[in-house]
Amino acid sequence: MARLVMKFGGTSVANMERIRNVAQHVRREVEAGHQVAVVVSAMAGKTNELVGWVNEGSKLYDPREYDAVVASGEQVTSGLLAIVLQDMGISARSWQGWQIPLLTSDAHGSARIEGIDGKNLDDGFKRGEVAVIAGFQGIHADTGRLTTLGRGGSDTSAVAIAAAIGAERCDIYTDVDGVYTTDPRIVSKARRLEKVAFEEMLEMASLGAKVLQVRSVELAMVHKVRTYVRSSFDDPANPTPGTLICDEEEIMEQQIVTGIAYSKDEAQITLRRVADKPGVAAAIFVPLADANINVDMIIQVTSDNTTSTDITFTVPTADFERAKTILEGRKAEINFGALEGARDLVKVSAIGIGMRSHAGVAARAFKAFADKGINIRAITTSEIKFSLLIDAAYTELAVRTLHSLYGLDAA
Ligand code: ASP
Ligand code: MG
Repeated sequence: MARLVMKFGGTSVANMERIRNVAQHVRREVEAGHQVAVVVSAMAGKTNELVGWVNEGSKLYDPREYDAVVASGEQVTSGLLAIVLQDMGISARSWQGWQIPLLTSDAHGSARIEGIDGKNLDDGFKRGEVAVIAGFQGIHADTGRLTTLGRGGSDTSAVAIAAAIGAERCDIYTDVDGVYTTDPRIVSKARRLEKVAFEEMLEMASLGAKVLQVRSVELAMVHKVRTYVRSSFDDPANPTPGTLICDEEEIMEQQIVTGIAYSKDEAQITLRRVADKPGVAAAIFVPLADANINVDMIIQVTSDNTTSTDITFTVPTADFERAKTILEGRKAEINFGALEGARDLVKVSAIGIGMRSHAGVAARAFKAFADKGINIRAITTSEIKFSLLIDAAYTELAVRTLHSLYGLDAA
């Protein structure tokens, strides 16, 4: 008897009719003889509404109370799904994070999972019950307070529970039928991938693909949880398998490039004529890190006189003004000549484990962008991806260009 985790996102449980549809998917797996743990999100839009109320309550709210409020959306859907399953004659019980218990750090609002005791869930399986688990939430052991895992965190709950109960696989049901080579809203020739390697999915999620929370992919990779992304809108009696995220060994035909991702809202800051001496990078980036500003691409130019240099880096647009203020406030200390900035940029990335064994992959993109007149502002590369920073106005052209260039277009 195999164990299975089935996770349903907000659009899949958006109302009672959809919850009933979810119950049909659960019934199919129960009837196939599986022990099933279901993880649910809050109804679509609910968490945003709850966050809105918290912000209305106080600008400087207590994060412990934020968690008390925003964790409630999942309490509702887990209870409702258990009720609907019971109504269909399927034995089911809801579980809140604290009841499992799913233990986390005390970083309220973005807590990390520290451990899951599978004993209570095990006992439920022995009683023949489906476990219906409220995603996104846990409990801090020392204080006994509710915590949440950060937006999109129920994906992470699902993968962590799959690892904890030794599930054969984790099915993430959502409103799309899998992971695509790129965003189908931009490229009509985007294709659904049958399989994608953990590492590739991690890069795709980090570089802008929104289908899974990044941490859920990290966890799946560490614990080797075979994870499917699939649609809850399929006919429950006749579903399609979706995309399997798995170990690269399982993927026979490896493309050089598997997917193209993009992330909008990037801003660039350039510091001109920064002293070229030890400690300067720290003087710039430590204060930004202390302010929780996520710096991404960093480029340092060595100038010909070797006494000063230019440093360029990117931050999310939302943090652009704050980053500028922090740096200008330290102008004397960092000792730079001028600060220049640009907003409305986009980072376009190509990802594929096949890049490890092929040279010149990114060079082809440089040429293709040149032919299209797209100016590249910054470049970063790693073993299995490269990213190009360009003006946002060229997003669609750039994504389409790369998608065709690497042979990803559907026939
Ligand atoms: N309901 C939470 C959110 O909207 C968690 C989730 O859906 O994954 O972020
Ligand atoms: Mg989600």
